[in-house]
Amino acid sequence: MGKQYTHAKGFNVTSLEGVAGVYILQETCGDVAYIGHCNNDFKNRIRSHTNKTNGKLDNNIQYLHVVIIDPDIYPLHVLEHLFIWYFNPPRNEDLWIFSRNKTVRQVKETAKKHNINIQGTLEEFLLSFETVFIEREWDDNFELKRYGEVETQSSKKSSCDGTLNCLCYQCLIDSRSKVIW
Ligand SMILES: [Zn+2]
Repeated sequence: MGKQYTHAKGFNVTSLEGVAGVYILQETCGDVAYIGHCNNDFKNRIRSHTNKTNGKLDNNIQYLHVVIIDPDIYPLHVLEHLFIWYFNPPRNEDLWIFSRNKTVRQVKETAKKHNINIQGTLEEFLLSFETVFIEREWDDNFELKRYGEVETQSSKKSSCDGTLNCLCYQCLIDSRSKVIW
């Protein structure tokens, strides 16, 4: 048997098999560049972001956060748009569910119409999900890796290192909340 791909565009997506959720592409500098959603096939979804056609996965992208969402509980595309509203990433198209000028109260009302009942703060809601954090891997020739260690889902959970430069999901939301409010 030949080597099985574990990576998609340098991200080891093995642990995302069968996972659904919203994903956040983050640049080396920490900026959120693009947000999308995927139901089950992250390998194909990530691969579909080629460098040349739409620039969503160029070499500045170094981190992938996946917010794990049960699509039977929440409509994935609505949560995707909620995250896009929250982060306003430069590589996303215009919003159409939550428009940019909406207040948090209006965002919650709109979410409710889509059966998403947000209790407490928006941040508390966004932080209520399990997440997976994956760093992009390059080989010695600065090429994106195609094969590598097969990780279990729990091995990639981000933990907070408590520093100002921490890249964990909690710190990502925390730093954004300071910009928004
Ligand atoms: Zn952190």
